[in-house]
Amino acid sequence: MKVMIIGIDGLDNELLTKFEKDLPNFKKLRERSPLIKLTSVFPPDSPTAWTSIYTGKNPAEHGMVFFKDPFSKSRYGSYIGNDISGKTFWDIAGKQGKKVCVLFPHLGYPVWPVNGIMIGRTTEVDIKKFDIQTWPKEISTKYDLSGLKPMTSYPVNVGDIIEPTKEVILNEVELASQLCRDFNWDLYFFYSSSLDNIQHLFWMYYDKEDPFYWEDNPYENVIPDFYKFYDKNVIGRFLKIIDSDTVLIVLSDHGHAMRPAKVANINEILRKKGFLKKKKEMIGFENTFIDKMKNAILSVIDQYRIIGKMASIFLKLFPQGLSFYTNITPIDNKSIAYLSDPSGGIKAYSYAGIKINKKIIDDSSYESLRDQIIKILLSIESPGNSGKLVEWAKRREEIYNGKYINKYPDIVFKLKEGWGAGLEINEKIFSRSRSHKLHSGNHRMETPVLFIYNEKIEFDLKRNLELMDIAPLIFKFLEME
Ligand SMILES: [Zn+2]
Repeated sequence: MKVMIIGIDGLDNELLTKFEKDLPNFKKLRERSPLIKLTSVFPPDSPTAWTSIYTGKNPAEHGMVFFKDPFSKSRYGSYIGNDISGKTFWDIAGKQGKKVCVLFPHLGYPVWPVNGIMIGRTTEVDIKKFDIQTWPKEISTKYDLSGLKPMTSYPVNVGDIIEPTKEVILNEVELASQLCRDFNWDLYFFYSSSLDNIQHLFWMYYDKEDPFYWEDNPYENVIPDFYKFYDKNVIGRFLKIIDSDTVLIVLSDHGHAMRPAKVANINEILRKKGFLKKKKEMIGFENTFIDKMKNAILSVIDQYRIIGKMASIFLKLFPQGLSFYTNITPIDNKSIAYLSDPSGGIKAYSYAGIKINKKIIDDSSYESLRDQIIKILLSIESPGNSGKLVEWAKRREEIYNGKYINKYPDIVFKLKEGWGAGLEINEKIFSRSRSHKLHSGNHRMETPVLFIYNEKIEFDLKRNLELMDIAPLIFKFLEME
């Protein structure tokens, strides 16, 4: 069998079900596909999740994991030292003689030699100059590679991003279908990043539960419209191309939901319990320059939609602003434990961790400290008698094992839906997220999508799968050793 994989970043299974009457092609996939509940990885960040799909390895094994440590200078989102080239499912299939055609994979830049074709492009367009590369090089002279730059995350007016994003998707599919016809492949992989960004930006306009939603706003249907757009122009198009010898896999790396609007300031809880101290010079630091800067940055983010153009100019400097924000910590380095999450506390994720400061504790007390802190986390009551705040809290080894397990904080936990982990100390324990409007949508671990489709064969597969199960499945369909 041949295998075609369509990867759509952030495609959410619950939204697909909700919109299904307007999505005839996705509906067709669901009706033919075995019923599978796919779960993403922890944390459900795109680089971490796609690397697990590519390699069949969990994040502690492949190491593409990032948690910001407030005491290190590492930049938000830096996955330095992790190179996936040569380790992906298309590399392994290629080594066994399968011809591959791999288009725009997340993290697939710079491209590397493959047994077939690979086109890769830079993803963080806000930070780096855009570039696109092909393997082999001749592809770039034979095909039109223009119009493939994904849209920037911070448009001046949020509505300005809609039409250009659709253009990019159409250009991607146009090139992809040409290569699909022109080239004799065994394994074909097409990846599209745009839906994820659209959901990050437009969630508050779509979701009536979002605190910033308002009735009859002009962007109410942007998210449902993009699902229809993908149904018609991506899934519909590829369904027409494939034959009965091809297994079509449509999948996403994580689902999407509302970013928490409420935060629980975990460091403040740790401080109250005696595990964390604030730097002396930071006590009463309301008047210091650093605090003023931090508040300035946060208020720009908070009012971003309102002050439009000015905020956009500021946000062009955002990567620097963000590293400034996340690198200056009010935590005293004699603290025993402190919050560590993938964003340095700025994005209010519901998934996070706690680092234990091994420099200042006895080795012998490490495990009992982890026990104590896990107990504290699990006992936190959310305000208004609405039950426990923390859904689960575990030692890191309880979720994954591998040589990079040290990249995880010592304790990992997940807050219940609607709540994010905040950094503030000496504030109230519960407050609202000041960065909600920047990105009102958020990755979700529970609801990625996996459809496996062939017009003749009905597959019988396990009901519950993880991202690490995808690569072996591809090898099985390709009838590899
Ligand atoms: Zn993603």
